[in-house]
Amino acid sequence: MAAIQTNTGLYKSEERRWHFDLYAVFEGPQELYFGHETQVNVNMVETVRIDAGKLDDGGEPVVIEKCYLSPTKRRGVERRTLIWAPLADGRLLGDRLGCGIPHTCTQPECPICAIYGGLITSSVEVEKGVPGAPKRKATTFVGRLVHGGGVAVQAIEPSEKQRAMHPSMLHKEPSAEPTPMPFKRQYNEPALLYPVYNHAMSVSEAEFSAGAYAFLESLARLGAGNPKGVRLYEAEILDAQQPLLVLDRYLTPLGKRPVLSPAIVETDVAIAQFVAAALDVRGQASTGNEVEYKEGDFTMFARWVGQAALVQLQTYALEFAQKYLVS
Ligand SMILES: [Zn+2]
Repeated sequence: MAAIQTNTGLYKSEERRWHFDLYAVFEGPQELYFGHETQVNVNMVETVRIDAGKLDDGGEPVVIEKCYLSPTKRRGVERRTLIWAPLADGRLLGDRLGCGIPHTCTQPECPICAIYGGLITSSVEVEKGVPGAPKRKATTFVGRLVHGGGVAVQAIEPSEKQRAMHPSMLHKEPSAEPTPMPFKRQYNEPALLYPVYNHAMSVSEAEFSAGAYAFLESLARLGAGNPKGVRLYEAEILDAQQPLLVLDRYLTPLGKRPVLSPAIVETDVAIAQFVAAALDVRGQASTGNEVEYKEGDFTMFARWVGQAALVQLQTYALEFAQKYLVS
């Protein structure tokens, strides 16, 4: 009789593993374009419809449409920042690992697949010199970093703009070919706020460092085509202007989660709720940007808020770069 599998299959980490949660509010400093679901050549941005929780004069539910920075697309941008991270020898990280999109290497030593996961559906031959060569077997590697949120706070519908692809001629006669190709494209309006959340389950600090690098590095690169990029929105936390950002590292989830209801449309209400939850650990109002809850000497829960969360993420991102990109 064959023995049943009693383990998860995950390799043992050299250091202890934790849960990490990241909560943030992004602001689009300009228009943003992210195509609708998987449609191509349609130029529509992704939106979601939300029940406003009230009825109109005719007794019908009021439904509002909101722009959506979809977590799956954000995840793809993050993953690419790791694949395209530059190495000392002039290559990119994904080339050294033989890990990319759509071929994810699923090798245990890959810092990208370690948290983002990977899948090889049937055995494939890979080029010499990459981990697992010459043949990588069918493997499933479940990602332990998941992405959520992304529904804009304000209920402002996308704008539609006429664009034209112009040939590179400076001057041409009206009858000459080629002619400009007009097309329409939707954009998310500037200043929309997007609450977003990343959660890593049972990862070591070293494993999480890739996620910290990817999160920070993706800020300037979110969007499809141009323009791109978001900023961490800033508001008053504990009497100082700080990014709306929270990082938790824990064994037990003791902090109130700054997750905003998509039904909220007022920015001041959204910001107040985020800040109030960010400063609530085990029912106590935090008075500082760093909070620890200990049992004996052991830190069961640590939370970094605002500027402290940004610095802590930068510390993890530096650890990742030192380990993989510098030498
Ligand atoms: Zn990989």
